[in-house]
Formats: sequence, structure tokens, C-alpha cells
Amino acid sequence: MSFFGRNRAPRQKRSPTPGTLPIPPRDPLGSSSAPPSPGGNGGGSPPPLYLSRPFADAALVKGNFKTIVMLPKYVDIMEWVAVNIFDFYTNLNEFYGVIAEVCTQQTCPTMSGGPTLNYLWTNQGGKQVSLSAPSYIDSVMSSIQTLVDDENVFPTKTSQAFHPSFPATVRHVYRQLLRVFAHIYHAHYTAILHLRSEPHFNSLFAHFLAFGKEYDLLDPKDLKGESGAQAGVGLLWERWREKGILEA
Ligand SMILES: [Zn+2]
Repeated sequence: MSFFGRNRAPRQKRSPTPGTLPIPPRDPLGSSSAPPSPGGNGGGSPPPLYLSRPFADAALVKGNFKTIVMLPKYVDIMEWVAVNIFDFYTNLNEFYGVIAEVCTQQTCPTMSGGPTLNYLWTNQGGKQVSLSAPSYIDSVMSSIQTLVDDENVFPTKTSQAFHPSFPATVRHVYRQLLRVFAHIYHAHYTAILHLRSEPHFNSLFAHFLAFGKEYDLLDPKDLKGESGAQAGVGLLWERWREKGILEA
């Protein structure tokens, strides 16, 4: 059974001049008070907004994500991974498309994923280069689109088997998608809040994390960052595990 092909849709081109977004005022933020404390964050600089209540715990899905990532009966595991990755990619691409107007060469000259963390892009020659976030993310999204359009990588016909390198390919895709999540959380969470999309975005990310853990697609190093350069989203992972949203 190949249901993957049915979901396939062309990548939505991001408009260079998206229409004006309805940005309702965020009354709970208040104008003068400091952001609410998430608690347990030993002091020092204020925590990022995405770790602050109520934003960190806003979600559409209540309870643990384990049930929605489990392999359904009679579904091939490769198919299941492929269709889910395609959905994560599509949804994240749409979120990014909505906030892309605030992610520019000027606002985001590097692909930041935390206060001291900048991801480098590996170019065709295998060299690591620093790209602006919009260039980096465009490269990520274009390369994933190329992969999902490639019948040899993401086959849509039941007769065609998945290539033995498929697991390695999807781990690579997962790492890149994680970096896009990390950048949006780190640099553009206020835009997500202005759109009142934090329950959607958190649910998408929690689903992504739960799925990645279930099928061994995530490298813990990518979540935690190297010492001294912590990926902020690693803290969300910890928090959601404490809350029982993600498996310990
Ligand atoms: Zn940005």
C-alpha cells in the first residue's frame, strides 16, 4: 500500500511579498512587566520566551505523543517514516513561509539556534560555510524538496523498494528540519506568538521530537548542542519530558 503519493503536493513557493498578516495584540504579554519565569532556570539572563509559561505548554494535542507516532498495523515502516517526514517538512515549510518576511539577511545574518549556537551549511564540496538563516533555510527546504521528488529516494509506487540508504537520508533530513525548528524558536518565536500559533507550532515540534525518538532519527547531540553552545530547543525537550508530553 502506498499512500505516500497521495499526500504529495508541490512545495508552496514562498512569496517574496506575502500579504500583511493579521497581527492581533497580545494582551497577556503586558507592556512593562518582565516575561514570566519558567521556574527552575537558575537565574542569570532571562529565559527565552518559548520556555516561558504559558507559551511553552500551549499545545493542541493533550497528553503523550507516543500514541500518534506508533506504527499502524499493516503499514510498512519505511512508508510510515516517509509519509511523516513529508508531513513535517510540509508543515514546517508553511510555518516558515508565514514568518519568512521577518527572517532576512539583515535580521538573521547567521543560522542561529541558540544564543551562542550557529549552524554551518555543508556545501557541495563538503566545506562548512556560514550562511544567513534565510539562505540556509532555503537551501534546506530546496534540498528536501529535491529528495521527496526523487522516486529513487521517496518511491511512490508499491513495486519500488526503498533504497538501503533511506535511513541515513532521513536522519540527515531530520537534522536539517530540527535546525529550522531551532532557528524559529530562537529567533522568531515572537512572530509565532503574534500569530497566536504557539499551540500549533509546539504541537508540531513535540510530534516531530516524539517521532524522531521513536524511529531513532534524532541525534541527542543536535538537541543539546556542543558544550558551551546549547541548542535552546533542547530545553523544551527536557521540559516536555518532565511534563509527560514526551517519553522520558
Ligand atoms: Zn531568521
